[in-house]
Amino acid sequence: MKERGNLFILSGPAGAGKGTLRKKLFEEMPDLVFSVSCTTREMRPGETDGADYRFITGEEFARMAEGGEFLEWAEVHGNCYGTRRGDVDSSLGEGRDVLLEIDVQGARQVKSKVPDAILIFITAPSLDELECRLAERGTESRDQMAVRLRNAAEEMSRAHEYDHIVVNDRIDRAAYELAGIIEKYRSRRTATSSSGGAER
Ligand code: 5GP
Repeated sequence: MKERGNLFILSGPAGAGKGTLRKKLFEEMPDLVFSVSCTTREMRPGETDGADYRFITGEEFARMAEGGEFLEWAEVHGNCYGTRRGDVDSSLGEGRDVLLEIDVQGARQVKSKVPDAILIFITAPSLDELECRLAERGTESRDQMAVRLRNAAEEMSRAHEYDHIVVNDRIDRAAYELAGIIEKYRSRRTATSSSGGAER
């Protein structure tokens, strides 16, 4: 039987640079599978439906949640976000490594269902730096930014629940560190499967 893939979870406050790091990671590891989440939030300029998120209505989201289609879901910054169970399961079953970029509530839910999921927290060097980056990004209104900053402190206080913490001080350095963490788990698995072992 084919060995299941690794499940990696990236979380961290808005402005930490998760999205940029993730994109860099996929340039280096194109065989990783990105789990495209469903969300009820509005599409931002530059985003693509089906690639960044599946943008759906609140009714559709509620129907999917009731139907048990989500591995996890949460309300974040006033919108709903969820990971489709089927997509993740089928990729892992094919032996492919999957990456979720989800918030701390979602990461907790997944870890309770998939205990060997690997949790990686991405953070900025400080809250001041987060605020600057969010302002520079300019994709949020003032109110949305205030909500995200309020939630950032709460999210940062949960970093200790994660297996790894990457401080995104410089994007190239942080991307290198992140790729190293992922590579470590991938090569461990290759080594155990080629030696006939079952443990990761
Ligand atoms: P944004 O609106 O900036 O794209 O994302 C807001 C937050 O929602 C981020 O922390 C992001 O990681 C999180 N998020 C994105 N997709 C999911 C998901 O499927 N589930 C959960 N729980 N959080 C998600």
